[in-house]
Amino acid sequence: MENNNSEVTKHFIEQIIEEDLNVGKWNQEQLQFRFPPEPNGFLHIGHSKSICLNFGLANDYNGKVNLRFDDTNPVTEKTDYVDAIRKDIQWLGFEWNKEVFTSDYFDQLYDWAVALIQKGKAYVDDSTQEEIQEMKGTPTVPGKPSTYRERTIEENLSLFEAMKNGEFEEGTKVLRAKIDLSSPNMHFRDPVLYRILHKHHHRTGDKWCIYPMYDFAHGQSDAIESVTHSICTLEFENHRPLYEWFLNNLEIFESRQIEFARLNINYTLMSKRKLLRLVEENHVESWDDPRMPTISGMRRRGFTARAIRNFCDKVGVAKRENMIEVSLLEFCVREDLNLVAERRMAILDPLKVVITNYPEDKTEWLPAENNPKDENAGSRELPFSREIYIEREDFMIDPPKKFFRLGIGRNVRLKHAYIITCDQVIEGKNGEIIEVHCRYFSNSKSGSDNSGIKAKGTLHWLEAKNSSLAKAVLYDRLFNVEAPGSTEGVDFTEEINPNSKQVLENILIEPELLKAKPEQPFQFLRKGYFTLDSSSTEDNLIFNRTITLKDAWAKKR
Ligand code: ATP
Ligand code: MG
Repeated sequence: MENNNSEVTKHFIEQIIEEDLNVGKWNQEQLQFRFPPEPNGFLHIGHSKSICLNFGLANDYNGKVNLRFDDTNPVTEKTDYVDAIRKDIQWLGFEWNKEVFTSDYFDQLYDWAVALIQKGKAYVDDSTQEEIQEMKGTPTVPGKPSTYRERTIEENLSLFEAMKNGEFEEGTKVLRAKIDLSSPNMHFRDPVLYRILHKHHHRTGDKWCIYPMYDFAHGQSDAIESVTHSICTLEFENHRPLYEWFLNNLEIFESRQIEFARLNINYTLMSKRKLLRLVEENHVESWDDPRMPTISGMRRRGFTARAIRNFCDKVGVAKRENMIEVSLLEFCVREDLNLVAERRMAILDPLKVVITNYPEDKTEWLPAENNPKDENAGSRELPFSREIYIEREDFMIDPPKKFFRLGIGRNVRLKHAYIITCDQVIEGKNGEIIEVHCRYFSNSKSGSDNSGIKAKGTLHWLEAKNSSLAKAVLYDRLFNVEAPGSTEGVDFTEEINPNSKQVLENILIEPELLKAKPEQPFQFLRKGYFTLDSSSTEDNLIFNRTITLKDAWAKKR
């Protein structure tokens, strides 16, 4: 969609911001956004959508973004998660203005709760959670008042203080707002503001034993930080009137909540709770297992930050829930890696080839460009001598016509080297192929070929003496089904792809790959994109396959 001045149409949140700027509601210096993760798990690809949106808007309109750890639930939150979240956002390429914690505001939030009590707009309720639920009614049946609803202001003030002072057991009392028990919006039926939790908090320690609920904390935190546009996902649309009710009744900064559709991707789970189960039940190794849809998992697997940002851009910002194809993410990864990954040779399943007419004691070092897509990437040298390796699958004794690889009497070009022709195959007792004997054409060297010899296929290869052993891990999608976790009666762990990880114990790599660093992207010629796994050591190099060169799933479907 394009408008008259051929400018790309702005998405609805950009339109809201521009309107606010136009009518002078805010000026650019006032524009304030926030990204508010709860530190109860690692960030996943869904979060990167929200990160790219908030930080992208701040970049485009010269605003600021606070990183706010929404830490109101001491039971599930940990400092390790806080550290991981910081690292992931930075890696994605964004810088926040202030780092804040909702727990920084516990004193202020407590004072605001007291203020509501003083206005007769909140009360302490001794009902159990079940009783409160029961009394709430349904959207068509009005709720019933709790017997504690008419407590006096004085009584509420002293009970709430006693709650704070730890005088009551967990679950025996809550603080509720006094709003409207017959509201069609269930969130208005006297929502709980505070609950008792005798739990140690990762930052406030044992100072508090009452903790605010999301609805009582989020909008107020936005107000404290003068957040002008508080962007969240659609499931909070029904919470918006309550969000505004608190800001109005407390007479504080009026942040505006705007909802957009959360990112859903097929074949991909996006719930920290479920991802935690994958880790805790050892279906994967860790939060940063390369099969996880976490930012740290994708990074370890070799996805680039730019590919993820491009993906989020392409997905766009929608008002209605939708399902994005994981192949779009994979496309973005391939597209970026194709540009930036240096090319290397590795043989995943080696078959020895002896070049019988090549001198025994000779080694040549042949130039090989690092990246044909990037002229600044330079070149390296590959050793070539009498014994080399090719992929076992690139040889057939009796190949069909269309097999443009090696077979007896057939020619192939060795990339960056010579054309060879195959004379003989040496088989073992059980007919297994042990090695292949070829001859090379000495005047067919790449770059100075005047042999006039034709070769239909080009193979990657490695010289025997100078190549090293390494491991490769071939990853595939973690789930076999399009919508894991959505089939009634089936636990999502039953939908795990049993072939999501295949380890190759003995691959061969070219000398240059001994210098590889984690996250450095490589294209192993004809084999896919790979990166060094972060658990590698000098004598145990492990390469993760980031992604295949082509979409293998497109064919299967
Ligand atoms: P999960 O359900 O995976 O635990 P969450 O929404 O509870 O996710 P938070 O840490 O509370 O996780 O989210 C931080 C921010 O990221 C919120 O603003 C939330 O709306 C946003 N976010 C989370 N998941 C997605 C998603 N799939 N798409 C877009 N934004 C998301
Ligand atoms: Mg959450």
